[in-house]
Amino acid sequence: MTQSKGKKPLIVMKFGGSSVGNTERMKCVGALVDEHAKQAEVVVVVSAMGGVTDMLIRAANEASKGDREHWKGARQELARRHRAVADQLLTPAEQAAVLPRLAEQLTNFENLCSGFTLVREVTPRAMDTLSSLGEVMSATLLAAILRSMGRAAEAIDATQLIVTDDNFGSASPIFEETNAKTHQGLSAIRKKGAIPVVTGFRGATREGICTTLGRGGSDYSGTIVGGALEADEVWIWTDVDGVMSADPRLVPAARIIPEISYREAIELSFFGAKVLHPKTIQPVMKKKIPVWIKNSFNPTCPGTKIVAAPTDRTPGVKAITSVSNADLITMSGKESLSFPRLATRVFNGLHLEDVSTLMATQSSADNVLCFAIHDADLARVKARLGKTFELEMLHEYVGRLEVMPKIAIVVAIGENMKGTPGLAGRAFSALGRRGINIIAIAQGSSELSISFAVKSADVKEAVKAIHEEFQL
Ligand code: ADP
Ligand code: ASP
Ligand code: MG
Repeated sequence: MTQSKGKKPLIVMKFGGSSVGNTERMKCVGALVDEHAKQAEVVVVVSAMGGVTDMLIRAANEASKGDREHWKGARQELARRHRAVADQLLTPAEQAAVLPRLAEQLTNFENLCSGFTLVREVTPRAMDTLSSLGEVMSATLLAAILRSMGRAAEAIDATQLIVTDDNFGSASPIFEETNAKTHQGLSAIRKKGAIPVVTGFRGATREGICTTLGRGGSDYSGTIVGGALEADEVWIWTDVDGVMSADPRLVPAARIIPEISYREAIELSFFGAKVLHPKTIQPVMKKKIPVWIKNSFNPTCPGTKIVAAPTDRTPGVKAITSVSNADLITMSGKESLSFPRLATRVFNGLHLEDVSTLMATQSSADNVLCFAIHDADLARVKARLGKTFELEMLHEYVGRLEVMPKIAIVVAIGENMKGTPGLAGRAFSALGRRGINIIAIAQGSSELSISFAVKSADVKEAVKAIHEEFQL
């Protein structure tokens, strides 16, 4: 580990929902932080207890339909789960300090839900305040657990540290301001020698309105804080031994990858590997801060190190990932509408809707553009492109938007695939042998990944086939 002379290394440790899912897990996390705080300066970033964010979002949605009973039940469940941790892991003095703060958060929950029921609506802005309450409760608890163990620790709300734009539900940090505010906001706690416990997932606009960084965004919070503090390392603690050669739920034979590059990690997370939020690497990439993925259930396992340039340069495929809920859209124009013009207007439409494509292929001769998007974006894309090409469609200069639903994109990733001939052919044959039809294929000139579109129903088999072919 790199560290400045005579100083303890600074490690930002992010704990995911499964790592803090119940009293026993919280206790283990307290012990892990305590142990590492002996050799390093630790800053903690924590997610909500597992399942809590889902529960909060569901409660808000049910409330907006006028159902009071649902959120009242959810309030009880939230109180029960957080109280159980406080009852079992906190000293009486800490309980006395923390229970009123948890009650305050539950009152906020109740007031917000009650408002949603009255107006029969939940806006993205209000949803962010509500859906990230779980992180406020878990950070409050974890700091109190550490204090109950004799470690100085203070919970701090990331709305005080991370400054974002106002894209509620998927906000982006404004890095210059975030870096300065995070430094400043944590300096008093760090100077006292206390461990800051930062809420993951949330930030705030310049005006102080709470935002969230997107589902699974606490990973991103971890590297935002790590980047701002110029930490020596960021450790992301989760429930698997590291980044694996495939999603272990799809391929039980998947194995841990000891080291991967930033680019490979970005590609993996963009194409659905849930182990990392897609934006996680961005804040640490330029500063070359290594990110470790570690298992809080198996802490002696070293995990995966994500770095700028891994030492292992073995050529070939390193991992397979997939996105299951996609649609393939085809747009075709007549000769009078040049392909570049068609493509420019389609992609501009996607840009205006903030939609990214999972893969895109073209056939300039036929003026056909084909691209895949997440199913969740389909309605917006249809509406936007329908409007953009309204006249052209009316006069049949552009064909109707054709949608092939229930598509999966299977992606083989490896920075060292570049210059290795025959990889696409092997993947093709492996899929062919299992009778899996390939609907579209795309490979970037960077040769970092090859993507195959297959039917959703074939995704598990396709991932397994390619995994087996490359003996991952
Ligand atoms: P956390 O609660 O710690 O944020 P997540 O559930 O968000 O954890 O992410 C961890 C999960 O990601 C694992 O349990 C695993 O099922 C899934 N996953 C998907 N693809 C991969 C992969 N390539 N390597 C490791 N885990 C993966
Ligand atoms: N709790 C948030 C979620 O479930 C953020 C996270 O866990 O990373 O999406
Ligand atoms: Mg996660």
